[in-house]
Amino acid sequence: MVHVVRSLSCRLQSCCDTLLKYNYYKKSTVSSYLYSNFSSSSTEILSEKYDVVVVGGGIVGMATAREILLRYPHLKMAVLEKEKELACHQTGHNSGVIHAGIYYKPGTLKAKLCVEGLNLAYKYCDEHNIPYKKCGKLIVATNPVEEKRLDDLYERGKKNNVKDLEMISAKRIKEIEPMCQGTRGLWSPHTGIVDWAEVTRSYGKDFTEKGGRIHLNFRVISFKETAESSSASKGDGNKYPVSVRGENSAVKASYVLTCGGLQSDELAQMSGGKINPKIVPFRGEYLLLNPKKQHMIKGNIYPVPDPRFPFLGVHFTPRMDGSIWIGPNAVLALKREGYGWCDVDVKELMDTLSYRGFQKMALKNSVFGISEMIKSAFITLQLREINKFIKEITADDLSR
Ligand SMILES: Cc1cc2nc3c(=O)[nH]c(=O)nc-3n(C[C@H](O)[C@H](O)[C@H](O)COP(=O)(O)OP(=O)(O)OC[C@H]3O[C@@H](n4cnc5c(N)ncnc54)[C@H](O)[C@@H]3O)c2cc1C
Repeated sequence: MVHVVRSLSCRLQSCCDTLLKYNYYKKSTVSSYLYSNFSSSSTEILSEKYDVVVVGGGIVGMATAREILLRYPHLKMAVLEKEKELACHQTGHNSGVIHAGIYYKPGTLKAKLCVEGLNLAYKYCDEHNIPYKKCGKLIVATNPVEEKRLDDLYERGKKNNVKDLEMISAKRIKEIEPMCQGTRGLWSPHTGIVDWAEVTRSYGKDFTEKGGRIHLNFRVISFKETAESSSASKGDGNKYPVSVRGENSAVKASYVLTCGGLQSDELAQMSGGKINPKIVPFRGEYLLLNPKKQHMIKGNIYPVPDPRFPFLGVHFTPRMDGSIWIGPNAVLALKREGYGWCDVDVKELMDTLSYRGFQKMALKNSVFGISEMIKSAFITLQLREINKFIKEITADDLSR
């Protein structure tokens, strides 16, 4: 979610809207990133002035900042990130899939950007020597109900112009994934995998090479619009009216964009936005397949999603390091940026539980939610879903 604190000129704003596409076409690697290009702001008092400040060093913030600077190289720009490195949160904790755009509703911006983004992602990776694997994706139906849903997905994918999407037979499933069983499948050969954190670091490198600054350890705690300068009456006003305060630092800016991921609602509120909608954090848990069984999985294998639920279901995801992740399931996170059951923030949890939006969603999806939590506790229950596709995997082959 990108939030603009002070209205940008129409041109710049439309540029930022366009940049949202980067959320969907993520790309990949720069192994030895030059951290010396970054400054750590935890103890400094900065009084730098910037034309544009972007808050959030995840893939959306970094892609946005990079693209603005490429298009408007004369701008003085900075990215403020609260962690000690880029891509510490969602961007560094995901399945690493370069999606082809099969699922999204035809005609929506999401569908359009995902399809366009895939091509741009591969292009960027090729140009920057970022490793990726175009290992394809198989969505596998195991019964007639799922086959019908697969037909609908195929129609969607076709309408979205997903390249080379193919409906395949049980026999062809075996040719692509010899260990996988299913009655019919949807094959997307251009789906791939990449390390999105590496892509983000590469964006950071591009950005700093073009003169942008990245301030790490800079947690934004408030925005304040300063009074117009005396020249306001003459028409030019104060050039840097937004003061962006960190815990120990502050910078001034003409324009600020917030790309705060899990904190995007708080940043929106800080900058004068409404209290709703709020982020309700869900955590995706993955299981790791025994390295001795990794050869069983060639590419991404997904179940046919159940349209009643907002999740894709447990899938097999090959990683760039050769390991195979199975998941994610979806459980309520007890802390926004918490990645295990022991990560709890009582205030954040109470905020979530008392939020009407969450209560409505919980009521509607209570059976699904409870079953996901039970499955999180017992690997054997997840195994049942895994064995629908690959019988040879046992509980001993799975670890957390
Ligand atoms: C389980 C899971 C699996 C996924 N799998 C895929 C996938 O396979 N393929 C895919 O394309 N997408 C996937 N996604 C989605 C993808 O990860 C996100 O869409 C993307 O990473 C969002 O990036 P972001 O920059 O908006 O957020 P983030 O990466 O969370 O970045 C936000 C940044 O803002 C910073 N920030 C927040 N508040 C402040 C503050 N006050 N001051 C300074 N900095 C601040 C944070 O520290 C953080 O670095 C997945 C998501 C999840 C949860």
